[in-house]
Order: sequence, then C-alpha cells, then structure tokens
Amino acid sequence: MLTTIEKIIFVLLALTSAGFFFHGVATIVRSVRAGRPGPELKSVPASLIKAGITVLFQRTIFKARRVLSAVHLGLFFGLITYAFVNLVDALEGLVPGFDLVYGGRHLAFPFLNAHAINTFNLISDLMSGALLFSITVMLVRRFIVKDKRLSYRENVLLHPKVLTGGQAVDSLIVDVFVIMHVIARLSSQAFRLDAGPDPFMPIASAINGLFGASETGVHVAWWISLGWVLFILPYITRSKHTHFTVGPINLGLAKQNPRGQLDPAVPLQTANGNHYEPGAKHIHDLAWKRLLDPYACVQCNRCQDVCPANFYGRPLSPSALEVNKRYLLKEATFGAHPDRLLLPLTETVISPEAVWSCTTCYACVRVCPVGNEPMADIVDIRRRLILDGAELDSGVQNALQSLATNGNWMSKGKRLRGRWAKEMEFPIKNATEEPVETLWFVGDTASFDERVIPNTQMVARVFNHAGLDFGILYQNESNAGNDVRRVGEEGLFEQLVEQNMEAFGKAQFQRIVTTDPHSFNTLKNEYPQFGGKFEVKHYTVALLRLFEEGKLTVKNKLPHYKVTFHDPCYLGRYNGGFTAPRKLLELVGVEFDEMPRNCENSFCCGAGGGQIWMGKVAPGERPAENRIKEALATFEKNPGDKQQLFIVTCPKDMIMYSDAVKTTGNEGRIEVRDLIQLVAEAVGVEEPEMVA
Ligand code: SF4
Ligand code: SF4
Repeated sequence: MLTTIEKIIFVLLALTSAGFFFHGVATIVRSVRAGRPGPELKSVPASLIKAGITVLFQRTIFKARRVLSAVHLGLFFGLITYAFVNLVDALEGLVPGFDLVYGGRHLAFPFLNAHAINTFNLISDLMSGALLFSITVMLVRRFIVKDKRLSYRENVLLHPKVLTGGQAVDSLIVDVFVIMHVIARLSSQAFRLDAGPDPFMPIASAINGLFGASETGVHVAWWISLGWVLFILPYITRSKHTHFTVGPINLGLAKQNPRGQLDPAVPLQTANGNHYEPGAKHIHDLAWKRLLDPYACVQCNRCQDVCPANFYGRPLSPSALEVNKRYLLKEATFGAHPDRLLLPLTETVISPEAVWSCTTCYACVRVCPVGNEPMADIVDIRRRLILDGAELDSGVQNALQSLATNGNWMSKGKRLRGRWAKEMEFPIKNATEEPVETLWFVGDTASFDERVIPNTQMVARVFNHAGLDFGILYQNESNAGNDVRRVGEEGLFEQLVEQNMEAFGKAQFQRIVTTDPHSFNTLKNEYPQFGGKFEVKHYTVALLRLFEEGKLTVKNKLPHYKVTFHDPCYLGRYNGGFTAPRKLLELVGVEFDEMPRNCENSFCCGAGGGQIWMGKVAPGERPAENRIKEALATFEKNPGDKQQLFIVTCPKDMIMYSDAVKTTGNEGRIEVRDLIQLVAEAVGVEEPEMVA
C-alpha cells in the first residue's frame, strides 16, 4: 500500500522511535538498579506467569470500584488487541498485497483463510468500539466529572509537577492518543471499503457509509494511526503509563514473604560489600523492588481510598507517595534535577507528619492492583528517622522508653504483668516453672489495662472450664514487639524478641495462643526470622478447636443479640483469620449482620503502627468512630429490638471502639464486647462480677 518513499520514511521513524523507547527503558532499569538489594525472590518465572494470568483476567482491579473496573476491561482488552492490530496494520502498509478487508480478497498468503481474517476483522472492529467507549468514560471521569477520588488532600506533600497538573497532562496525552489512534485506524479501514460495507467490520462500514472509499484517505489515516504509535511508544517510557508494562512485571515480583513479616532494616544480601544504614533516608536507600513500584503505579488512588489515616484527614496518601517517587526518579534519571536525589525522602516524597500517621493496616498494599508496597517505604523511613534521633511524638517517646525499661508500653512494673492472674479464683500455671500444653502469650493491653482485664480473666475461665492445660509467662513476658517494629525501632524490637526468646527457652509448651492479634502476627511471622519457630494460634482458633473437640459445648444460645464483627487488621487482612470468629458467632446463636467493609476489606480502627501511643489527637472523625457509624447503619437495614453488639477480638479494639461509642454519643444504642464474653455466656461460664 505504501509507496517506496513512504516505506523508507516509516522505517526510519520506527527505528528512531525504537531508539527513544529503549533509551527510556534503559533509564528506568538503571534507576531501579540503583536501589538496595531486596529480599531474595523465589520461582520468578512461575510468579511472572501467575501474574500474567492474574492481569489477563484483571483479577486484582476488581478488589475495589467494580463498575469502573468493568469499564477498564474494555480499555485493557482493547489495548491488548490493538498491540496486535498495529502489527497487522504495519504489514498492510509495508507488504504488497497484504490487505485484510473483505476476508483478505487480494491476499497472497494461503495459510490465512477468510474465516480467520473475518474473525480478526470483527474482533478488531468491536474492540475499537470498546476502546472508544472506555476511554471516553475515563476522560469524562477525570476532566468533566472530576472524580474526587483522583485528587489529593491539600495537606498531602506533592511534587511540584503534580501540583501543576503533570498527572492530568499525562492522562490527557494518552487519552487523546487512544481516541485519535482508534479513529484513524477505523478510518483507514473504512477508506479501503471500495466495494461497500464489510459485515465483519460494522463500525468501519458505518464510517464508510458516511465518507465512502478513498486511496488518499487510506494513506493519511494509516499515517495518523501508525505515526501516533511511533510517537507514543517513547512517550510511555517517560510518563505514568509505564504501568502498561511494568505493572504486570511488578505484580510478578511482589512480596513473597508473609504479609505480616517486614523486610529486615538492612538488606540481607550484602555480598557486594556495601555498608547499609538501617532504613531509608534517600530514595536509593529503598530496595530496588520498591523503586520499581512507582513505575508500576496506575495512579488510581485505590490505596488512598482505603487508607484510614487519609480518611482521618492526616496528610498521608500512599498513592501520592508512589507518584512523588516516580517524579523524583524521573527528573533525576532524565537529567533535570539529579541533585534532588540527595534530599531526604521526608522533603521529596512524604511529609514527616504523614510518615507518623500510618497505622500499618496493610489496606493499601492489599488493594493495589500492581503489587505496590507503600507501607513498607513508610516503615523504612521511620527506621531511619528513629536512628537519626528525630523528634518523636511525646506519647510514642514515653511508650518506647517504657518498653525498653519495663518490657511493656504502659509504664507498669514487670512484676505487675501477672497480677490479673493472681486475682483469679483458680491458679494459673507459670509456664517457666512447669510444663504446659498451651502457652498463653497475653500481651500488654490484656495484662494491664483495667478496661480489658475482665475479658482476659474470662478467657482464662473459659480455658479452665474446657480443661485446657495452659500457663502464662508472668513477669518473663515482654511486649512481643509488633508495633515497636512498625514504629521503626528495630533495635528495641530485637531486644524484645531476645527477652521473649529467653522466656520461651525457660518454658516447656507445645503451642502458643495469643489474645492480641498484633502479638500473634509478629510471633507467627517474624520470630522465625530470629529462630523462634512455634505453632501460634489466635485465641478464637483455640476456642473453636475446643468446641470441635467437645471440650466446650453451647448450653445457652444467644438469639437475643444482634451483632456485627470487626476484623482486626493483624488477625484478618494480615493472617487470614476470618473464619474462626464467624464460626464462633454462629455456634453461640446470635443474629449476625456483616458490615459492608469486612474480612480483607475491613477498615482499621486506627490504633496500629504505634498510633495508640500518640499523645496528640488530631481533629476530625476518627476511623473507629466511622466504623461504629458503619455498624449502626448496618443494623438499621434490619431493625429490631434486640441488643446491638459490636464484637471485637483484639484488646486494642476494645479500647478504641468503646471510646468511639462514647465520643459518637451512641451509648445505649450499641455496646462493644469481646467475643469471649459471648462464648462465656453461651457455655455457661459466669461473668467475673458474679464470682464470689
Ligand atoms: S498501611 Fe494503612 S494507614 Fe498506612 S498508608 Fe497503607 S492504608 Fe494508609
Ligand atoms: S500504589 Fe497501587 S493502589 Fe495506589 S495509586 Fe498506585 S497502583 Fe493504585
């Protein structure tokens, strides 16, 4: 179809485009390789294939925003189809006689039959329509409706390019490219239809009906269609649309160790002889994989939607963190401001206040369709801030001091840890003095907080009622260190691990049971990094097992309660502990209403990652208050006169939500109870105040 001169021009332009494209790819690779060694990745080819299949079926985007995700399907499959269509179009231009309209009427390639060609034509034509529809929806959403979910709070640190609309320009260029490209391609096909409509090209045939066939039109439209591609390929490597290709790769290289296990503060792979300070101060202190994250980022803000800190009006946006990282890397690698790489991350990608707002709830990582880990960056930045002696919130400072001195964050003497046990009406074994089957790791809040101790004692009564052979560590137990590590105090975390490992060494036990999901998480997932490999169960799983073994039986069903259940982040999202609490609720016979945000999508109470220690309370509706309102709204869908309960399985949740019920003025409408209270009532174990 093309003249010889046109072919020469096309080949030269294609080579130039490929040159700029590969230069773009090489600079990205170079900037990523400048990061620190990351955790060792296993079975990379298998992971990449799995990620490819996941992306092909678009599984990860349907975790949120289902309607928009469905629209995105048209965009995704349209672009995949068009990658192939563009190759075929190039052949039509370059190879004489390669003409696919009307089932390939002039085609001199016997291995391509008319059925295959017509199928290809039909798919291409329909996918053109799907692409135009999807891209129009995206354009309307961003530029006309101005969906708020695509914007950032005013208090979030943003790169100057974002503030001046760089993201919007990127989107506009690519959206306009797709529209122009698809229209030009459809027109190029339409102008070829010199024998009337082709039933396998309905959209092109409709355009042909308006403008007819034209040899000049074919050339002009072909050049616009393919010329755009030659321009956009290098542009993509320099824009936010790197996610087209990096997204699936990043997903294939995503976190392989357990969700609840943080990467070490310094890389384990130090074979290159480099010395590494713990944590991250500058962008290249981050592991290489986390420098790949910003190139994979779709900038969809799904992570921001689910972030409790962002909800609470804090200056934290996990997506802004990734966006800022990309602009920082881009301006440095493409030569504009390499000096900015030397600035601390707290000046370039995330504000210090935002760093200290994260609850480490993992919601952002879970929802990200391309496997990004903004939370891991935040923990690494905290680690270096702590090391550099940054000024901390007074509450955090006090908690850390107490943890270092007393092994608990509540400024209580070590010997007081087992006081609740000594007040019991039966003895509780000291596991460091006599062997036990189950070692109960009680945790700070459950051991010391007067608001929670009645629940702790009830757990002991139910265990005792079931004949469980259990004991505790008394003063030998220290805080397990989960939140200490997430605050960034790696040294103190290791000290606490050492103390607990010493205590475990003195005890004889078969398994550990915890009441606190935070302790559960670190004991299960992080102690193995320090040689502590134990069977660790949350008490809900232990209780369910006691029912299954017939050691606990329901004597009184509880249909007079209408309950909802809050999945704690460190039990649910981190460790998949969704089933046992729900089975227990079913066993005790309550009426159970599930809140809209449940299981993986549960909304954090706002206490994790050291937030419960913070001295300053920010203004605005707190996540726990929002959650209580969600529970009440859930109950209102199915009103009645039953007693309404908000069920928790975490001592911190007991505190957070009891406070939230008061501060939202909902006392009398809803009551917060630990699941153990329902179990105790159902199996006939008395409330503490009823015991003589
Ligand atoms: S871990 Fe939770 S609080 Fe932290 S950035 Fe992610 S969503 Fe926000
Ligand atoms: S980090 Fe993930 S969820 Fe957040 S904006 Fe980027 S792609 Fe979307």
